[in-house]
Amino acid sequence: MHTRVAVIGSGPAGLTAALYAARASLEPLVIRGLQPGGLIATTSEVENYPGFVDGIGGYELADNMEKQAMRFGAQFRDTLITAIDASVRPFVLHTDDGDQITADTIIISTGASPRKLGVPGEDKLANRGVSYCATCDGFFFREKRVVVVGGGNSALDEGLFLTRYVSELVIVHRRDTLRADQVLQDRAFSNPKVRFVWDSTVDEIVGETGVTGVKIRNLKTGAVSDLATDGVFPYIGHVPNTTIFKGLLDLDENGYIVTDHHTRTNVPGIFAAGDVVDHVYRQAITAAGEGCKSAMEVVWYLAAQDYAASKK
Ligand code: NAP
Repeated sequence: MHTRVAVIGSGPAGLTAALYAARASLEPLVIRGLQPGGLIATTSEVENYPGFVDGIGGYELADNMEKQAMRFGAQFRDTLITAIDASVRPFVLHTDDGDQITADTIIISTGASPRKLGVPGEDKLANRGVSYCATCDGFFFREKRVVVVGGGNSALDEGLFLTRYVSELVIVHRRDTLRADQVLQDRAFSNPKVRFVWDSTVDEIVGETGVTGVKIRNLKTGAVSDLATDGVFPYIGHVPNTTIFKGLLDLDENGYIVTDHHTRTNVPGIFAAGDVVDHVYRQAITAAGEGCKSAMEVVWYLAAQDYAASKK
């Protein structure tokens, strides 16, 4: 299969890129990847995406974006890209089902994944009480006690969502001040189900077939205590999904793709947008904006290539 533009990843950056490329009649091919809709699709309520006075569910927002891109001719494929050959033109994308896709241009919007705590018990109890998606799994914790780790917007936003179900929410944060927006802090402090454990980290998640507790270490005193809990939701930031681009594209010291102000990577014809580039703003709206820019750059890039070819 050949496409003029392959979009790898289907969060707000990829779907906006697809919308703009589709409206430029490029019939982009979107590779949905592991997390269709991107991280925003796992977010409960999105209250800061402009245009939705009362907010909108994250899944609904992503789904709307996909349908909008599809309306103008974007195509979608559920597969993973395992490698890219950039030594030839068109580029060759290898998929995990053994197929190959050729593409004149590529927009990378593979986003970032939740950072793990990296403590004993976390992997063993994943999906057995340890979850990175309150929207997906909150329902399973009705009338249970749950621990959220982190002090950013995700920890408070998703923690507050969990209070719809749980009997008690304990937020464990490594400092005694929060990074989250004031509006979320106000809501958390006034919610009777929420309790904070300050200056502390989760050192171990305990349980055999399901989570039964955590070991909490106070960073100021060094004291370790046990806390009984039925679930643990780590919200401690993200790591970019760039493993397959190592050696192909310039990455910064944290693994994010390096681009210029035009979303161009160091390989002409390969562009990148969204959380896979941005470790500062990381908002759905900024990702969408970058996705728009990348598609416009693709249109201009292809026009220049076509013009050069016509002169030969
Ligand atoms: P974040 O803002 O980077 O916050 C990560 C939190 O985890 C921080 O409180 C950090 O502590 C803590 N942390 C980091 N590593 C840790 C570790 N190893 N052990 C324990 N704690 C650790 O990440 P985020 O909350 O996922 O947010 C990401 C971006 O999405 C942000 O730009 C945020 O504004 C945005 N977002 C916005 C909304 C919204 O507007 N409604 C909702 C969700 C996310 P320190 O504070 O001490 O560094």
